[in-house]
Amino acid sequence: MFKEDIELAKQARLNAYSPYGKYFVGACLRCKDDTTYLGCNIENHGIQSICAERTAFVKALSEGKRKFKSIAIVGAPMGEEVKDICLPCGYCRQFISEFIDDDFKFIFEDNGEIVVYTIDDLLPNRFDF
Ligand code: ZN
Repeated sequence: MFKEDIELAKQARLNAYSPYGKYFVGACLRCKDDTTYLGCNIENHGIQSICAERTAFVKALSEGKRKFKSIAIVGAPMGEEVKDICLPCGYCRQFISEFIDDDFKFIFEDNGEIVVYTIDDLLPNRFDF
């Protein structure tokens, strides 16, 4: 399932709108009912851009989904194949932490190897109340 979600994220990545940073990111969010939502980064020259992982979450949340299992995230410069790991920005880490359980998995690919992290790995001592 991890590999399949990485491949879906790679497909989503092709829809990225990144004329400024020229860095294409894709994400595949898997809900606990095994439905998936894809996202890509969408830049904007005037206001803050939205990252691929938040796009996927916003799509799922806006359709009523609230229980999530994992998210696969891949990124690479425009026109290049995914190679190095692409970790979420601080904004996304905090945003995502609102909606997930401690066993939620962040799935990455690093030079062909699957790497899995939890929110405690990515955002220890996060804001929570
Ligand atoms: Zn982000």
